[in-house]
Amino acid sequence: MAAKEDYYELLTVPRNASDDEIKKSFRRLAMKYHPDRNIGSPEAEEKFKKVKEAYEILSDPKKRSAYDQFGHAGVDPSMGGGQRADFNDVFGGIFGDIFGGGARLGGGGRSHAQRGADLRYNLDLTLEEAVAGTDVKIRVPTYAPCGTCGGTGAKKGTSPMTCSTCQGHGAVRMQQGFFAVQQTCPACRGSGQQIKDPCPSCRGQGRVQETKTLSVKIPPGVDTGDRIRLGGEGEVGEAGGPPGDLYVQVNVKEHPIFTRDGANLYCEVPISFPVACLGGELEVPTLDGKVALKIPAETQTDKLFRMRGKGVKPVRGGPVGDLICKVRIETPVNLTREQIELVKKLGDSLVGAVDTHSPQEQGWLDGVKTFFDKLGL
Ligand SMILES: [Zn+2]
Ligand SMILES: [Zn+2]
Repeated sequence: MAAKEDYYELLTVPRNASDDEIKKSFRRLAMKYHPDRNIGSPEAEEKFKKVKEAYEILSDPKKRSAYDQFGHAGVDPSMGGGQRADFNDVFGGIFGDIFGGGARLGGGGRSHAQRGADLRYNLDLTLEEAVAGTDVKIRVPTYAPCGTCGGTGAKKGTSPMTCSTCQGHGAVRMQQGFFAVQQTCPACRGSGQQIKDPCPSCRGQGRVQETKTLSVKIPPGVDTGDRIRLGGEGEVGEAGGPPGDLYVQVNVKEHPIFTRDGANLYCEVPISFPVACLGGELEVPTLDGKVALKIPAETQTDKLFRMRGKGVKPVRGGPVGDLICKVRIETPVNLTREQIELVKKLGDSLVGAVDTHSPQEQGWLDGVKTFFDKLGL
């Protein structure tokens, strides 16, 4: 089977295209390649079919997401593995095995090797690792071709024979009421082959379970939810079938100081009451060292300070984000007698001048007054 073309490329839209963009592009291409406008051009007809297929997948949110995750294997029922649309759920009870079961229907029935399953590995990273990128070694349980039989499943010195029930087609035709349906061959479970003398190492499966260690390069800027695909690192198929893919699913652990939102980092910085009043400079942490943060006089709590370019460089490109610090004014504790006297003195000096020294309190008092006036109190 020739490799299928990428649906997004067929529709000439970016992978993050909106539904509207997809629809627009499809309309334009459908007009261009429509058979009625290209009479006698099999190329145009072929192209039209492909574009239509791509649109059918990408215009359906469920299928699009399956395609994004698993590629063609996620949406093409003939590819095995992945999510096989919803046909099984809807028709399973009535038609039994027609759509599922992994039988390779059509195509001469000579390709009976089944593609191995895709694997998913959940990888926890620290924020620093996710931002800077890293190399990790992961151990994944998987199937590998059996070394004893070379993947055929047949005992050494013997070889699999063509299945006598289905003559190697992997499927048999059955009459069910009015329907003649194709069903996975029960004798060979769709492989088209029968093994008279199974290999003792793999019990005729052609593959053995093992754990493999893989080095994975994590690019800088990944975030929770990102997925790295390692083509062909999934399970090998039965009977020497091609391997599935391995998807490394990234999860970034919580950080004690920073939280991340896209390319921006956020942190809370406590500042002392005198610094908030009079202004000052303090050091704040960034992911690659410290930077000085100037606090202007009369800073209120929750004020945000943006440090440009101290955030994250997104893995898919785009500008580096910012570090946004939110200051919180800390009430002093464990005061000495002398300090308490000083605070009292300060407090006394502010009494009667709320409108001058405490703009927020004044606004709040005004609000309360209006509220009570309305109630007639
Ligand atoms: Zn074997
Ligand atoms: Zn068979």
